[in-house]
Amino acid sequence: MAYNHLPTEELQALDAAHHMHPFTDGNALNKKGARVITSAKGVTITDSDGKEILDAMAGLWCVNIGYGRDELADVAARQMRQLPYYNTFFQTTHVPAIELAKKLSQLVPGDLNHVFFNGSGSDANDTNIRMVRHYWALKGKPDKKTIIARWNGYHGSTVGAASLGGMKGMHAQGGLPIPDIAHIDQPDWWSEGGEQSPHAFGLERARQLEAKINELGEDKVAAFIAEPIQGAGGVIIPPESYWPEIQRICDKYEILLIADEVICGFGRTGQWFGSQTMGIRPDIMTIAKGLSSGYAPIGGSVVSDEIASVINSGEFNHGYTYSAHPVAAAVALENLRILEEEKIVEHAGKVAAPYLAGKWAELADHPLVGEAKIKGLMGSIALTPDAASRAAFAAGAGVVGLMCRDRCFANGLVMRHVGDRMIISPPLIITHQDIDTLIERATKSLDETYAAVKAEGLL
Ligand code: PMP
Repeated sequence: MAYNHLPTEELQALDAAHHMHPFTDGNALNKKGARVITSAKGVTITDSDGKEILDAMAGLWCVNIGYGRDELADVAARQMRQLPYYNTFFQTTHVPAIELAKKLSQLVPGDLNHVFFNGSGSDANDTNIRMVRHYWALKGKPDKKTIIARWNGYHGSTVGAASLGGMKGMHAQGGLPIPDIAHIDQPDWWSEGGEQSPHAFGLERARQLEAKINELGEDKVAAFIAEPIQGAGGVIIPPESYWPEIQRICDKYEILLIADEVICGFGRTGQWFGSQTMGIRPDIMTIAKGLSSGYAPIGGSVVSDEIASVINSGEFNHGYTYSAHPVAAAVALENLRILEEEKIVEHAGKVAAPYLAGKWAELADHPLVGEAKIKGLMGSIALTPDAASRAAFAAGAGVVGLMCRDRCFANGLVMRHVGDRMIISPPLIITHQDIDTLIERATKSLDETYAAVKAEGLL
């Protein structure tokens, strides 16, 4: 690449001049200059100044097998030479699509045996909106089209997926949500549980689903969509009472349960799917990210035998040029082979997770930290001026979180902030030694943030 040897400042200037970044205040970034990442290996990314950073976010929650696996590059090159592209419209198919769909039908639990491929998690959730509405229409219930989702849930950034999501800042731009989407409150006990016990609060939040179904009418509600554990919302691990009650409600009323497994899938929670960790039986799963460990863009909607049999009864007028892209599908297959053969999900759940959980829990003793929660390799800590009252900072949500995030970067650690929660989702291959480094850098960053918060009078 012609620009490979340009100095950092020149790359930053070119980036500022021509590249628009997702979810970014463009002018603010352009003044400061973006961090330029040039290479990565294992759990470590390297920037254009040669600084090595432990990536405790696995990119964007996706590099489950870690960086730098040549096998995926080799498979991609082979597939590009043999068949770089062909579509799956017009009664055609190809070997990577067939093999990946079969593999997924084996890995995904229950009778979710059919995959509609997409280019991303957002595309997959848009597919879900159209598919569930079409499903009910085919069953003679065209009014059964409202999809219930949750405030502070995240399902992607396309018009449909962002409408399902409960991010008010996203709804405020571009005229969202689309019609026939309803939201209920999230099961975030730390921020919204008040005086209730986590158990009672989990039940109360789950029963909002039942209340919403009754308010709208069962014959108007097509589906409920949720992440088994909210990711972008701040790694919100629901109280244990929550999911069984949601499942009970979905069973009682005739509505489809869509588990958005874009983050939780492929080992993140210590089992193959978050639905297994949470004990739920979805009718549809949204998958992406860990499906290819981020090495190629691919997602999918995995649906039950029943849904597939109804949808397949006629033409479903939907699809993408890159549905089941052969190179992405081949890369995903190789990723799944490595996850299985190297027992990476077992490593994540039985080796890395218990060790990390012990260390993570100790962070709760830090004076800036309220709760420290983790499930599998998905964790968060809540920063607070007063743990006992679960208080928020007077400076406003995110001010202290951002300070901490910046200190993490400076200390060689990618830990993201969502408001004043600090979150992690490291590659599943993380070793005990990497975990020690992660905790050491996180603690140093928390200490520095605490000192700065005190110095600036933000406590
Ligand atoms: N669903 C969830 C749960 C996600 O976390 C994300 C992305 N962070 C998406 C959907 C959207 O996926 P994509 O960015 O690949 O469109």
